[in-house]
Amino acid sequence: MRRQQLDIQLKTPEQIELMRGAGLVVAAALAAMREAVAPGVSTAELDAIAEQVIRDAGAVPSFKGYHGFPASICASVNEQVVHGIPTAAQVLREGDLLSLDCGAILDGWHGDSAITVGVGETDPALLKMAVVAEDAMWAGIAAAARGVTNGRGRLTDISFNIEKAIRKGGRYGIVDGYGGHGIGTEMHMDPHVLNHGKPGKGPQLVVGMALAIEPMITMGSPRTVELDDGWTVVTRDRSAAAHVEHTMALCDDGVWVTTAVDGGRARLGDLVTARQPAVKVPE
Ligand code: MG
Ligand code: MG
Repeated sequence: MRRQQLDIQLKTPEQIELMRGAGLVVAAALAAMREAVAPGVSTAELDAIAEQVIRDAGAVPSFKGYHGFPASICASVNEQVVHGIPTAAQVLREGDLLSLDCGAILDGWHGDSAITVGVGETDPALLKMAVVAEDAMWAGIAAAARGVTNGRGRLTDISFNIEKAIRKGGRYGIVDGYGGHGIGTEMHMDPHVLNHGKPGKGPQLVVGMALAIEPMITMGSPRTVELDDGWTVVTRDRSAAAHVEHTMALCDDGVWVTTAVDGGRARLGDLVTARQPAVKVPE
């Protein structure tokens, strides 16, 4: 394979702190939406909630207008994997599985994060898939933390550990063609982060890199198709999908998960940088 020349933006500690500001705005928007999710609520209503939180914080919704995208969030229900457009007509129903993806720009820096939640009473098998996606995301982030502190980490160590955690979790389709990405002064930057593959390949993981890690898995086929709206990605077999995401920055003593309120401490312990001050996480 031809080696691609990557242009990876490295951030200073001060710039990572600015990314933290954007990350917390995204976390607040997702928390507000999580609170509002219920049967009978439309995805347009959730979009409005997120936009309000983002603008009240003095930030800008990064999705809105991105290549013409019309909203501040992506809301992807059931067989929709990612990039679902929120609408007033899409009213959530009991048992739906909903992925909410949100991004914000504050002081020129980006945060990008997603959660998958059940609407009302939801099939435990679907909720388990969401948990497996989350576990896989954290496994990938942990791999990056270990790799940057021991100086031997490579990009695909993240991919490998994501895949390993998914396989451990059960028989899921690992969506191909979509994945994580570099992030900083733009939402989508080099490098692309695959959610599967062999370890030890790709660029070295170095201090100052910031990456969005976002596994997408399905109850069935890993294959997807894009709908005629030019955005919504659905599974080809229409099986349900889960998608979760966090933005993280690599520091000399671990990672800082900028879109997690606690910076990742609860899931990563000592793999979180000491730069991340202790944060009291509201229940
Ligand atoms: Mg996202
Ligand atoms: Mg992303």
